[in-house]
Amino acid sequence: QAKHDGKNTFCLYDSDMDSRAKAEKQIEIDLKKAINQDELVLHFQPMLDTVDYSVLGAEALIRWQHPEKGMIPPFFFIPIAENSDLMLDLGQKILEMACLQAKKWQNKGMPYFRTCVNISARQFQTKEFVDNVKCALEGAQLDPSRLELEITEGMVIGDTDAVARKLEILADMGISLAIDDFGTGYSSLAYLKRFSVHQLKIDQSFIRDITEDHDDAAITDAVIRLGHSLGLSVVAEGVETEEQVQILRQKGCDVLQGYHFSKPLPVDEFENWVLAHNEKHGI
Ligand code: C2E
Ligand code: MG
Ligand code: MG
Ligand code: MG
Repeated sequence: QAKHDGKNTFCLYDSDMDSRAKAEKQIEIDLKKAINQDELVLHFQPMLDTVDYSVLGAEALIRWQHPEKGMIPPFFFIPIAENSDLMLDLGQKILEMACLQAKKWQNKGMPYFRTCVNISARQFQTKEFVDNVKCALEGAQLDPSRLELEITEGMVIGDTDAVARKLEILADMGISLAIDDFGTGYSSLAYLKRFSVHQLKIDQSFIRDITEDHDDAAITDAVIRLGHSLGLSVVAEGVETEEQVQILRQKGCDVLQGYHFSKPLPVDEFENWVLAHNEKHGI
């Protein structure tokens, strides 16, 4: 049986496998409803230029405000949705919401501001994926250069011809493509020269101990060099301290994202954060 005790605790089931399966089934049923109601919202986390701290864009991160269970984090329901075609509806809903918000920012004239959307494996693998992206862009009348799609290394292995074609069409439309959680997949690097990719996002597990752990610092260094030699921009995720900022600046990392600047925020709070940030930095 689902439990919700206390403010930030999140406990959906006990260790019993049967109740676990039941709880997951219930989540699936609830999620199906949530997609058609207003329980799903996007929060936005700023991505900053390492050199002048200007806000280059925001990553859209899904949040589910469940009427009884409270806020359910994505690491819990995304994997459940991924088990079925439910992820396709959810993924499309997220794309549509993100494009509509990005269009509002386009109308406000925020120059070069990109909205980054996480794409799930199941979503990316469908034949209709490119058409679905077009549909979300057209529905919102969004300039494609304001959209960035985040995929992971795992999604680009396999049927490489089909993957290459998809990425090329998206890139030709003017959409940016980023490899999320870079360095954690088990893929070869060959796809980087074959596929149209614009940005590498170094996984936060390498950034966390970058100031103390020589290996993490070396890997980060190598990813930045690799990215730059291929003409890609490199993002550090999970930046939490000023020391990390300084090290990443020294290493020439292009974009910074993390709690040190801001947590993912609801849209109103995000916009206020940007205003205050720009004022503080004279932008
Ligand atoms: P991700 O795409 O790698 O997103 C980064 C995660 O790191 C986010 O967690 C973000 O809140 C968190 N984060 C950001 N800065 C920091 C920091 O400084 N320190 C720490 N410890 N964490 C930080 P979140 O929002 O819980 O999302 C977790 C994962 O769930 C995402 O990882 C992504 O894989 C997935 N996800 C989230 N939203 C969506 C979505 O709309 N669609 C899909 N397909 N997946 C999503
Ligand atoms: Mg991401
Ligand atoms: Mg990531
Ligand atoms: Mg991830």
